[in-house]
Amino acid sequence: MGNIVAIVGRPNVGKSTLFNRLTGQRKAIVDSIAGVTRDRLYGKAEWAGRKFSVIDTGGYIIGSDDVFEGEIRKQVQIAVDEANLILFLVDAEDGITGMDEEVANLLRRSEKKVMLVANKVDNAMRQTQSAEFYGLGLGEVHNISAMNGGGTGDFLDEMIAAL
Ligand code: GDP
Ligand code: MG
Repeated sequence: MGNIVAIVGRPNVGKSTLFNRLTGQRKAIVDSIAGVTRDRLYGKAEWAGRKFSVIDTGGYIIGSDDVFEGEIRKQVQIAVDEANLILFLVDAEDGITGMDEEVANLLRRSEKKVMLVANKVDNAMRQTQSAEFYGLGLGEVHNISAMNGGGTGDFLDEMIAAL
């Protein structure tokens, strides 16, 4: 039983917001400008008495909306190498993008445990929309709002059980 959780996903889906919520820290940089991701960030977290480490594979955001396939591959590789459980974060506001599909393919090929998490599910309408993420073929879609905390309790209960 390990206790390392890594968050992967394309820029601007809310990785750093979730990292900050889990760790109670303001270490990760949260920016409304999507950008190129650099390296990774580590934090400690606890839920229901269980301690775990969190890796934000997005690291520091620099620059523009363009993220190279190589960057995303690197993120996924970091997560696969270092984590026991990978949280694949997608954005319910945007729906499935080509990059989400690429990440899904990489994760399916890895043999790590993956939880698919739809973020920005701030309201009931988004909850309906997020059902499309079942199309990524990664099983159950966990709806959360990293921003306002919605759904995070139930999600963390399941995450701890899967660790
Ligand atoms: P990252 O690039 O994946 O690390 O994404 P960030 O955590 O920097 O967030 C990108 C943007 O999405 C910021 O403007 C956040 O405030 C916003 N965001 C994050 N989580 C949520 C959420 O649950 N709901 C909404 N509406 N916005 C969110
Ligand atoms: Mg970030």
